[in-house]
Amino acid sequence: MTTRHIPADLPDHIQHYIGGRFVDSVDGDTFEVLDPVTNETYLRAAAGKKDDIDLAVAAAREAFVNGPWPRMLPRERARILHRIADIVESRDARLAELESFDSGLPITQALGQARRAAENFRFFADLIVAQADDAFKVPGRQMNYVNRKPIGVAGLITPWNTPFMLESWKLGPALATGNTVVLKPAEFTPLSASLWAGIFEEAGLPEGVFNLVNGLGEDAGDALVKHPDVPLISFTGESRTGQIIFANAAPYLKGLSMELGGKSPAIVFADADLEAAIDATIFGVFSLNGERCTAGSRILVERPIYDEFVERYAEQAKRVVVGDPQDPATEVGALVHPEHYEKVMSYVEIGKGEGRLVAGGGRPEGFPTGNYVAPTVFADVPKEARIFQEEIFGPVVAITPFDTEEEALELANGVRYGLAAYVWTNDLKRSHNFAQAIEAGMVWLNSNNVRDLRTPFGGVKASGLGHEGGYRSIDFYTDQQAVHITLGKVHNPTFGKSAPI
Ligand code: NAD
Repeated sequence: MTTRHIPADLPDHIQHYIGGRFVDSVDGDTFEVLDPVTNETYLRAAAGKKDDIDLAVAAAREAFVNGPWPRMLPRERARILHRIADIVESRDARLAELESFDSGLPITQALGQARRAAENFRFFADLIVAQADDAFKVPGRQMNYVNRKPIGVAGLITPWNTPFMLESWKLGPALATGNTVVLKPAEFTPLSASLWAGIFEEAGLPEGVFNLVNGLGEDAGDALVKHPDVPLISFTGESRTGQIIFANAAPYLKGLSMELGGKSPAIVFADADLEAAIDATIFGVFSLNGERCTAGSRILVERPIYDEFVERYAEQAKRVVVGDPQDPATEVGALVHPEHYEKVMSYVEIGKGEGRLVAGGGRPEGFPTGNYVAPTVFADVPKEARIFQEEIFGPVVAITPFDTEEEALELANGVRYGLAAYVWTNDLKRSHNFAQAIEAGMVWLNSNNVRDLRTPFGGVKASGLGHEGGYRSIDFYTDQQAVHITLGKVHNPTFGKSAPI
């Protein structure tokens, strides 16, 4: 075990950022943030409530109604977004250090996430400039075009796994399209969100466009969802929270984007490249500590290769390096919070009664404290098992055999979630037919978790509502107003005589 590395100049308190200024909560309340390795309080964050949300929404609304941001040309906004990306890139090491410290994610993976955050800004900066508004012309008769307008104050509510990157995913398109925002980051990991304020100021984002309120979901998050001046909410988090937000937003008929939980299958057929499949499925569930929405946490393996797969997989899982999140050699760090650690450990215990434990199964050796869980593998897990059905969100995987394609499909689709799926086979037709039949928003064929930013991201069933990514994000964050002009003779709208297009 390595010694805990404490980043230099680690803040011990963080505030909200409203209307271009750092402020405490109106009632002065704070909450504690724990170091995932020692579980000691290392930071106190301002605990926002309805009054703080009201101030943040008022600042964002003022910036939307009277400020320059929504009125700028797309290329002017794009220039600022590129500057944001430049600053993020130039500070990637520091961002990764703080993110890793706060969340327990391995530092090398946090670095990748910081760079991805910069890419998100670049991508949406370019997309907004390239975006040509749709125009449909009927020569000599009519022209129709679509005005894409920013909607107003966007409420962004984010989870604690890869916080900075997931925030960039919402901030990038919301800002590119000219909205103003109130961000409510997860209470387990508020540190990196507060860094946006300085980055945005330096890049020249006008005051009031970005606002941040820290706090608990049931206080600050709830007030943001219920605020009448916030017409759209982009939420990433648990399916259960998504249901609550859906219900709370219903009376206002808000625009909602929901990126929710998952229990994604990786299906390995006997003809697959076994080595590649094992490598990828190890990474797919143990990277980011298993705290990954798209984790392939159920592996379905065709019977002829099942025993060999389980044996080799378990061996490889035992070699995954658990360690201090700040150590560059670490592959699995500490889980984010003791509450989450208890949840994951309770599933490990449940799993012992439901499947055959072949790797891990508790604390890794040499880690008597901190939220460490050994990469854990259960084989022979039946479909009804809780560890097959429920999202664990930690380094725990269930392996199940299958005999036929039909059975594989039934197992793959036999859970309430439908976020991602991974298929390993060298049979081209089978892979595409399987992709078509799987109930998942995203399918990777013989491929790891890489994603082109132009593609839609989202889930079906309990995994989400709507899609983000590429033009889908632009659609979500804009009103698309149709404008119609008659170019030829205007027909009187006499019934039966006008000529509809
Ligand atoms: P969570 O639902 O507990 O919290 C997410 C956010 O919602 C936090 O900021 C929280 O404060 C806020 N919140 C909680 N209750 C609220 C309420 N009543 N009203 C408004 N806001 C509220 O989720 P989590 O534990 O932070 O994150 C893990 C979950 O996120 C997992 O289920 C994971 O699969 C999911 N996730 C999904 C994706 C995706 O893209 N589909 C990506 C990452 C994480």
